[in-house]
Order: sequence, then structure tokens, then C-alpha cells
Amino acid sequence: MECIFCAIARGEASALVVYQDEETMAFMDINPATPGHTLVIPRAHVRNIYELDDHTAAAIMNTVLRVARGIREAMEPDGLNLMQANERAAFQSVFHFHFHLVPRWTGDGLRPPWRPKPGEPLAIADAAERIRRALAAEGSGEPG
Ligand code: 5GP
Ligand code: ZN
Repeated sequence: MECIFCAIARGEASALVVYQDEETMAFMDINPATPGHTLVIPRAHVRNIYELDDHTAAAIMNTVLRVARGIREAMEPDGLNLMQANERAAFQSVFHFHFHLVPRWTGDGLRPPWRPKPGEPLAIADAAERIRRALAAEGSGEPG
């Protein structure tokens, strides 16, 4: 079966991409847990964390850092969760390695589903645009 994240990586499926480089991509989750919920993937089809090579792992973490700073700049959450889960026992829907970056607000419970602060709904496209602008403002060099 076709992997949806591979299709996104090839540009053959639509996604609200906020960052990409040769090895990685970051785009908005289509069904966000909170506004700004972003996924970071390797472009190559790596099935799970155990199949990541050192180089790709470093590239992904670099992108995670960069996007985390962009999310902070764009929406000033009270916190940010970084999550990875593996395969069937985790109820995964896509078997292509990915990190979830989930902005959190004070008052959210410990367990999902999390909700944004009341009175501050933010469309996914708006969140993407804000994060893109924040990343562009930080420049394209190494995350510093
Ligand atoms: P999992 O629950 O498998 O760890 O995470 C997969 C995530 O990918 C889910 O949060 C789901 O909402 C998201 N997702 C699934 N299909 C698509 C898609 O076609 N586009 C985007 N942007 N996100 C998707
Ligand atoms: Zn894939």
C-alpha cells in the first residue's frame, strides 16, 4: 500500500509544509491535537526508530529543534511536547517514522486529547503560515 508520508515527501500529496531540506520535512498534522501540531519526517521511508541511521537521526533532530523554535516564536505556547511512537501497539496510522511536535497550554491535562486555550481557535493553515514566517525570520542557517 502507498505510504502517504512518502507521497507528501515526493510532493505528490498535499500538505501544509512549514520546513523542508534534502533529508527532512515538517508539515502540519491534518488532525491536530492542538493548534500548531506539526509532524517531522525523514524524506526516505524509514519504518521506525530502530531503522534510523545516525546521520538521518541527526538531521531529523536538527529539524525538530528548528521547528520547535519556530512554533515558540509563532504561537508562544506554554510548553511543547515531542513524541514518537512505534507501530500497532501505539495505534499508529502511518508506518513512516515521524515525530509529533504538540504545543501545550497551561491547564491541559496530562493525557491527550489536548485542547487549545479557550477563545483562541487557530485554523491549521493560519498556524502553518505563522510558523513559516517565524522560520523565515530566523534565516536558513544552522539552528542557533
Ligand atoms: P500516528 O498516530 O500514526 O503516530 O500519527 C500519524 C499522524 O499523521 C496522525 O496524527 C494523523 O492525523 C496524521 N496524518 C495522517 N494522514 C495524514 C495526511 O495525509 N496528511 C497529514 N498532514 N497528516 C496526516
Ligand atoms: Zn513512507
